[in-house]
Amino acid sequence: MNHLIVFTFVLLLSFHTSASKFDAQINMVNFPQEHEAKVYQAIELIKKVVSSQEFKERILAHTYEGKKIFVDNKGLSNEQIYQLILDGSETLIPEKNGRMDVELELYQNTSNTIGYTYPHTTRIWMNSKYFNKYTPVQVADNLFHEWLHKLGFDHAIKYTLRRNYSVPYAIGYLMEELAHKHYRPSNVRLDSSLTEPVENLNVNQSL
Ligand SMILES: [Zn+2]
Repeated sequence: MNHLIVFTFVLLLSFHTSASKFDAQINMVNFPQEHEAKVYQAIELIKKVVSSQEFKERILAHTYEGKKIFVDNKGLSNEQIYQLILDGSETLIPEKNGRMDVELELYQNTSNTIGYTYPHTTRIWMNSKYFNKYTPVQVADNLFHEWLHKLGFDHAIKYTLRRNYSVPYAIGYLMEELAHKHYRPSNVRLDSSLTEPVENLNVNQSL
C-alpha cells in the first residue's frame, strides 16, 4: 500500500515537472503578417530548446579557459544563469513567471546591425535586412541573444574571441545549434530531398 502511495506521488511530481514548461509572450510591432509566422516558429523552437535536458546540460557544462563559467556573467554561476532563464526573470519584469516577455519591432536599415535593444525597454528591434532572409532557427538565435540582454547580461561591443563566451553570444549560438534539431520545415522540396539518401543506399547495396 505504501508503495502505491509513493508511486502515485512520484507520478504526480513528474506530471508537475512536465507541466512547468518555458513559455513566451511576444508582442509584435510593425510586422507584416507574412513575417509573423516566422517569429511564431522561432518562439516554438525557443520553447522546445529551453525545456530540453540537453539545453540544461550544455549550460551547466559551459567552460571558458578551463573553468565552468561564462564571460561577463554578472558574478553568476552556470547553474544560476540557467535558473534565471527558466524563471524568465527579466530586469524590467523580475517576476519569476517562467516566461519570456518581449516586444519585437521590425525596422528597416542598411546598416550591419542585426538587432538591438536598450536596458530601459522591453522592446527588441530587429533589422528587416537580416530578418527577411533568416530561417526561423536563426531568428531564434537572434531573439534569444537579445532577450538575454533583457536578463541583464552584456558583452563587449567589438568582436573578440572572448566575446563568444559571453552569455548572449554563447547561449544564442547554443540556441541555434539545438533549434536545428527541432526544426522541421514544412515544405515539399525538403520531403523529396529526404528520399535521396535512401536511393543512394540502394545503389551502393547493388554494387
Ligand atoms: Zn548583444
